[in-house]
Amino acid sequence: MADLRDLDIQYLHGVGPKRAKTLRSELGIASYYDLLMYFPFRHIDRSTIHRVADVTADMPYIQLKGRFISFATHGEGARMRLQALFTDGTATLEVVWFNRAKSVARTLHTGTEYVLFGKPSEFNGKVNMIHPEVDAADNSRASAGGLHGIYSLTERLTNAHITQRVVQQLIATALSTPQAQALPDVLPASVIANRRLMHRAEAIRAMHMPHDAAQLQRAQLTMKYEELFLLELNILRYVTGRNERVRGNVFARVGDLFNTFYRDVLPFDLTGAQKRVLREMRADMGSGRQMNRLLQGDVGSGKTIVAFMAALLALDNGYQACIMAPTEILAGQHYTTVSEWAGRLGIKVALLTGSTRKKAREEIHNSLQSGELQILIGTHALLEDTVQWRNLGLAVIDEQHRFGVAQRAKMWGKSATPPHVLVMTATPIPRTLAMTVYGDLDVSIIDELPPGRKPVQTVMRTGDNREQVNRFIGTQLAEGRQAYIVYPLIEENEKLDLLAVERGYEMMCETFPHYRVAMVHGRMKPAEKDRQMELFATGVANILVATTVIEVGVNVPDATVMVIENAERFGLSQLHQLRGRVGRGAERSYCILMSHNKLSGNTRHRLQVMTSTNDGFVVAEEDMRLRGPGDIEGTMQSGIAFNLRVADLSHDGPIVTIARDDAEQWLEHDPQLTSPEGSRLDREIHLTFDKTHDWSLIS
Ligand code: ADP
Ligand code: MG
Repeated sequence: MADLRDLDIQYLHGVGPKRAKTLRSELGIASYYDLLMYFPFRHIDRSTIHRVADVTADMPYIQLKGRFISFATHGEGARMRLQALFTDGTATLEVVWFNRAKSVARTLHTGTEYVLFGKPSEFNGKVNMIHPEVDAADNSRASAGGLHGIYSLTERLTNAHITQRVVQQLIATALSTPQAQALPDVLPASVIANRRLMHRAEAIRAMHMPHDAAQLQRAQLTMKYEELFLLELNILRYVTGRNERVRGNVFARVGDLFNTFYRDVLPFDLTGAQKRVLREMRADMGSGRQMNRLLQGDVGSGKTIVAFMAALLALDNGYQACIMAPTEILAGQHYTTVSEWAGRLGIKVALLTGSTRKKAREEIHNSLQSGELQILIGTHALLEDTVQWRNLGLAVIDEQHRFGVAQRAKMWGKSATPPHVLVMTATPIPRTLAMTVYGDLDVSIIDELPPGRKPVQTVMRTGDNREQVNRFIGTQLAEGRQAYIVYPLIEENEKLDLLAVERGYEMMCETFPHYRVAMVHGRMKPAEKDRQMELFATGVANILVATTVIEVGVNVPDATVMVIENAERFGLSQLHQLRGRVGRGAERSYCILMSHNKLSGNTRHRLQVMTSTNDGFVVAEEDMRLRGPGDIEGTMQSGIAFNLRVADLSHDGPIVTIARDDAEQWLEHDPQLTSPEGSRLDREIHLTFDKTHDWSLIS
């Protein structure tokens, strides 16, 4: 029997070449299978019949049962419309057709009992119904009861007369084909039984036409589970394959540099979390496998020193290391920090960015190849082909979300044995994303801040409080602290946004004439930007007015105030990042979220998340719940397109967890998916993911 995927949609009864073309171009439906996998976005209850007297314009699709009292056509030709009066004895309702008025008028009669199905609307203050479906009451689907799917359709489809009703009929036809009824399961029988899922054919049918809400829920669970199980199988299989394929450099010993640093240089005690993460990395790097680890730690949790100590391990074992940052400012800061530590150990460190001069650059290239240069810090410039290592053993990538998967992969090509890779991010990643988007990375978490940190106090204020806010900034400045004033900037609104930044700058200059104000925004020349940033970082400027260019990583310990203008325009994770710029010294710090007086409930809730917690993980989970995973920073560049058909990572976390556990278990006894059930899974994985996921790129 032909596979449903091989049955061309044009041969389905009721389709034909013309409709097939529209279905293909509008919805990407080319086969029977595609059609059946086009699930409704909601369902309506066709077992209920409403009373005409109860109908209001804000009702969703409803059913009415009764008779037409009169028909009248108005207008001529193409503009002809049909107006009918319908009643069930409780009241009358006007029903209107603008299309095909003539043919509709011919098929309907007064006196016959009909069931209407449509969405009430309002015209001139009166409720009416436009273009309802009409069935003779005695053969109406209403009597069949159950829930009916409502599909997302485009205007082109409706214009081509592919309406809700047509789609429903096409799907019913496709469901009744022998191929659909005999559709084999994809999931192994044991999994279906253990998790009490439905068989595939039954689940797909119930996605469209469930008997009741409970059956629909079970069908949705089944389809979501199936999708996530396949996704996890694919990720985990890839990781296992990589671990077997790729040998890693073995850092067998903890040597002099590491020990000397730990004993004599380390300026503070490591937190328990920092120690744990170092242990996890040492285990990885000593195992003979290549390390691919994601280090998550909130802003200020002390990731840099952990990265540096990992680099020392590489050096102790005769390898080189690099640290790559997304901006020149950040790379520069890392360089300053690391140079100081490294200097006390006699280690040679260099900085390489886009603005490194030719001569210095050549020197770096040479000393890298000779091995004399042990640690290189920089931006994307590290990825250039001219950068050749003697033996790169560890690549640290800071602030992961600015680096795409392809760039991570590029680090690999640099040596015969690929370096261990440590990716660091201060944007906490919700568990469900960690298991899917970043599912190929092992995860370490620094969930503890260095001692003595005072949590940043966050408040919401509006324009009415401007004077009070400025007074507060003044008192902080008087105590020798510094303040950030951050404005949103988006491309679509760039002119106005820049204007706001400049006005903000002027306002600060006027309000605080005795202090120095710096300004940074993305439209400045890099040199000017750096100069302004430098003024603030060195404490010469007391106030920095800026757009989000300062978002990542900048460290100014004396800054204790972060004012965020139009805070409602920022995403939660972004707000959290910005807030992380203060509270880096010993003094208490403040984050002031400025917004409009009138906020929607949703926006207010978002800002309240910020005032109620300092925990980046809570913020990230909430961010994903409110905005969906596609908008979470990093996921867009992750290389895995978010085209999950039924599962929704922001709400289906528990299913992800279960599917991952089950996938792990399955691979234990069928690692290559070679058993009969396994090869069916393998085939389905290819059919489902091949088009969108280039797994070979993931490093
Ligand atoms: P992030 O994780 O945001 O990159 P950093 O590595 O910049 O954080 O660390 C923030 C600050 O905390 C730095 O000044 C760093 O020296 C300091 N720090 C890191 N670890 C500790 C610790 N265990 N005890 C005290 N201070 C620490
Ligand atoms: Mg950092």
